[in-house]
Amino acid sequence: MTRSISIFGATGSIGESTFDLILRAGGAEAFRTVALTGSSNVRRLAEMARALRAEIAVTADPARLPELREALAGSGTEAAAGPEAIAEAADRPADWTMSAIVGAAGLVPGMRALRHGRTLALANKESLVTAGPLLLATAKAHGATILPVDSEHSAVFQALTGEDIAAVERVIITASGGPFRDWPLERLRAATVAEAKAHPNWSMGARISIDSASMFNKGLELIETREFFGFDPDMIEAVVHPQSIVHALVGFHDGAIMAHLGPADMRHAIGYALNWPDRAALPVARLDLAQIASLTFQAPDPERFPALRLAREVMRIRGLSGAAFNAAKEIALDNFMAGRIGFLDMAGLVEATLARLSSDTSLGNAATGLEDVLHIDHLARTRAAELAEDMRQNR
Ligand code: NDP
Ligand code: MG
Repeated sequence: MTRSISIFGATGSIGESTFDLILRAGGAEAFRTVALTGSSNVRRLAEMARALRAEIAVTADPARLPELREALAGSGTEAAAGPEAIAEAADRPADWTMSAIVGAAGLVPGMRALRHGRTLALANKESLVTAGPLLLATAKAHGATILPVDSEHSAVFQALTGEDIAAVERVIITASGGPFRDWPLERLRAATVAEAKAHPNWSMGARISIDSASMFNKGLELIETREFFGFDPDMIEAVVHPQSIVHALVGFHDGAIMAHLGPADMRHAIGYALNWPDRAALPVARLDLAQIASLTFQAPDPERFPALRLAREVMRIRGLSGAAFNAAKEIALDNFMAGRIGFLDMAGLVEATLARLSSDTSLGNAATGLEDVLHIDHLARTRAAELAEDMRQNR
């Protein structure tokens, strides 16, 4: 039977890699494509929809609907727009759904797919950070499957296959350290958007690239590890590994460590989730260990990269703190990208937002539903925007 698929965030970096794997596996001949979604890039969205003969293509931006309609004319693919249309597209039956929208906007469609008991390949780490317990409970209640796509989490998942989870002593996720790994604090203060975007090893969307430079990405991933696998925060470590060859390691109580190695190509983790529980041949480069020669590791510097400390705090508090942390981080990133605040101000802004919110709300309260998460997300964005404006004026 032909497998049906949907890709949320098809026009992004993960979306393009997913599209590439689908095409290589036979495209419209091998898969029935239900929904493809994007936002600003409607030309590309329409091109992809035509290539895969998608049922529906949805842009998040209602102003771009006429352009999408025009680009899809005569193709047989329906066009729709807006966040609600994206959520509705997740109600359409698909055997496998890629969640690769960037930011908290990915939460609702992923949740909707899980409510229908689907298999969700989860690249959108923000879903787990903002609503981990709800997401997992929804998957469990509806018999849905979540497969991690973030490279470190796919690596941990693979290292755990066939193992007794109770025998796990520690989990180590690696960080490349980003473009600023060796920059002194003073230089970091003046780092530009272009410098922050230039990731040394991975080709990714602009936002996650900058999050890698600030190590907010690794902070999100520590929380993601905690939420997805359920390990105690003390068992989870992050280590800087500039070569990005080892993606994660799992240590067991007999002292053994299983490491996952691979090239810095997201098509491995995406392809693993697409073919799971099988392994299929994938078009990724093969490692030449003699050529690589050395793999190095170092402890991350908490002073230059405060995001890790903030993330640890969120892992301790849990409840609504992840949603507040992520929302404040998204606003901080928007402001840095717009040149309104400096690179190091991002961590300062997130910390100040969490402090402000914890005096009005109990961030440790568990979310009883998606509304609680969306409420705190909104509140954190409002507070963070106010604080960012103060920061900009005092610069
Ligand atoms: P990109 O920025 O490259 O792509 C984001 C996608 O989301 C695009 O399709 C974009 O549309 C769409 N989009 C943007 N804003 C909205 C919105 N408000 N509502 C709906 N759709 C929107 O991101 P990445 O592919 O790099 O990352 C996607 C997710 O995967 C993130 O959560 C990231 O953290 C995670 N991830 C990414 C990795 C990578 O290698 N890139 C690695 C591990 C995790 P358009 O482009 O048309 O505007
Ligand atoms: Mg990652």
